Amino acid sequence: MRILLVEDERDLGAAIQCDLRREKYVVDWVQNGDEAWHLLGDAAQTYTLGVFDWLLPGLSGVELCQRLRSQGTPLPVLLLTAKDRLQDKVEGLDAGADDYLVKPFGLEELLARLRALQRRSPAFQPTQLQVGGLLLDYGTSTAALADSAQQPLPLTTKEFQLLEYFMQHPNQILSREQLMNRVWSLQADPMSNVVAAQIRLLRKKLADHGCDGLIETVYGMGYRFNAAL
Ligand code: CA
Repeated sequence: MRILLVEDERDLGAAIQCDLRREKYVVDWVQNGDEAWHLLGDAAQTYTLGVFDWLLPGLSGVELCQRLRSQGTPLPVLLLTAKDRLQDKVEGLDAGADDYLVKPFGLEELLARLRALQRRSPAFQPTQLQVGGLLLDYGTSTAALADSAQQPLPLTTKEFQLLEYFMQHPNQILSREQLMNRVWSLQADPMSNVVAAQIRLLRKKLADHGCDGLIETVYGMGYRFNAAL
């Protein structure tokens, strides 16, 4: 689950980013509407949700919504704003925002609204994902063999996100760049070997748990989750 957060108030943006990461979202945070549009123009489909402040340097949150909708991009968007007059709400929703949160708000409320948006979105996440014999549990952040009495395997946030992405694309070759783009945020260094290192750790953990060979290296191309195992 990847969120584009566009908020120019540094303290608020940092707090939201921190909370969303704790909830296992991958968060890209930018502070300028033009920069956000640049990201959306290249890869709107890589995001699950958008959280846009209304008043921003560059394009406003409402203009971002209008542009997305005029392109037919269905990304669910929550608008944040200090504006609370009825006509402003109508303008925001008319522009294509899916929900609207007035500042100041509690982060708990933001999370609840995002969960609601997620449930309504086509990319809605089930509570479990099963591919082949492997079961991923969203509630407990664990992986388990479906037909095993063994204790489920606890996963770190990054391991969970990586395995989730593999399981959403079974038997497909995923390049290092694809994994980097979907599972790591913009702050990660694209030249680092973080993908290979994380896959090594995940493989070892899975192998120690009796799930060997699930993630194959396809030499020169990337990695593949083997759903037949
Ligand atoms: Ca603002």
